[in-house]
Amino acid sequence: MSHIIETSIELLKKFPLCNSCLGRQFSRLYPLLSNSELGRIIKILILLEVIHEFKVSKKRGSFLSDMRMLIKNGGLQEALLLYKHYVKKSSIRPEKCILCKGFFGELDKEASRIVEALKEYDFNSFLVGCHVNPRIEQLEDEIKSKYGLRWGENIRFEVDRELASRLSQILNLPLDRKRPDIVAVIDLESREIEITVNSLFIKGRYRKLERGIAQTRTTWRGEPIDSIESMIASIVLNFTGGSDTRFHGAGREDIDARMLGPGRPFVLEILSPRRRNIDLKKLEREINRRYARRIEVLNLQFASKKDVQRIKLMGERAKKTYRALIELEKEISDEEIQMLQEKLSDVKILQRTPLRVLHRRGDKLRQKHLYSSSFRRIGDTLLEAVFVCDAGLYVKELVSGDNERTIPSVSSILGQNAICKELDVINIEYIRGV
Ligand SMILES: [Zn+2]
Repeated sequence: MSHIIETSIELLKKFPLCNSCLGRQFSRLYPLLSNSELGRIIKILILLEVIHEFKVSKKRGSFLSDMRMLIKNGGLQEALLLYKHYVKKSSIRPEKCILCKGFFGELDKEASRIVEALKEYDFNSFLVGCHVNPRIEQLEDEIKSKYGLRWGENIRFEVDRELASRLSQILNLPLDRKRPDIVAVIDLESREIEITVNSLFIKGRYRKLERGIAQTRTTWRGEPIDSIESMIASIVLNFTGGSDTRFHGAGREDIDARMLGPGRPFVLEILSPRRRNIDLKKLEREINRRYARRIEVLNLQFASKKDVQRIKLMGERAKKTYRALIELEKEISDEEIQMLQEKLSDVKILQRTPLRVLHRRGDKLRQKHLYSSSFRRIGDTLLEAVFVCDAGLYVKELVSGDNERTIPSVSSILGQNAICKELDVINIEYIRGV
């Protein structure tokens, strides 16, 4: 019946163990009590045994030696009080716990330090954890196996749990293991606190009213050029105090194409934001004011990492409407316009990777659907066309034919060279289910 007491006495004779680190060895026998409570109960029971033994045997020497063990290695105040009664001039002191190095005795203080370190960030959910030197875990494992301790738990679980409950209470926030805004990790020995701030995601739509703006940050002949991302980021980073951004668009248009109509959905990921509870309406107004007549953002909302995946799928599964300005070599008749319209409606377009993008994309044959086309003469050799097609169809090549890499094309049908002078995306219709 006395397995726990006897094993604990053996342990305490050998190692300084705080209440938590002793109690933890029996933790799974009764998880409703904290390890610290378990450890304290065991130590008090040992104290009672020691006193009882002394009362019966009157052996002062072994009594005082057992008491010293409870004070030095057990840190038991009750033992110290009694010991002083017998040994007036005693300088005996508790030693530091061999496993946690005193960490469990300072949980409240460490929890406050972590809260202090988190103060400069905005967050709505958190996770706290610890880093334990493998040496400590190894030592605990050795002790467990040497003394046949089968009911213990890992020291990290206890630190995490104890810190989480304190932080939850101080911050008045629940712990979030899946998608915390912020993660604090404390090192058990050095007590250093490391903070990782997870990205903030904002979604919305953008319109590009001016040509020559890229979608994501990029350079042209070595010089950075304006992009939707850099323009939005210049303001978002001020609002959030983030370190950088990543832009995820539902597909993209060419640099020289405008993006009109209801705009293109995007998700902006803000890395390491200090502020996340920002006023999105104000952000939207600020971007639209600063970049008036160049770009516009609409319907900004908070998003999550899942939206990044969704937005990529949306880009692939969309029907797009383009407006193209086409320049011909020679004038064409109304019949030819009619023929173009007929031959370029409800038709499969076979397209090899355009020559202009071959340097960055593999050469592959695509088949895309062109739902409808309409053409309007706006000058002797100028046509305005509206194409409704699958996402991923290269419209400039649908016009030029790209050296017969795109079939059919406006050029091939008319038997003359046609060039797309201007291109605008005027609508993107997303296929349901994404
Ligand atoms: Zn300890």
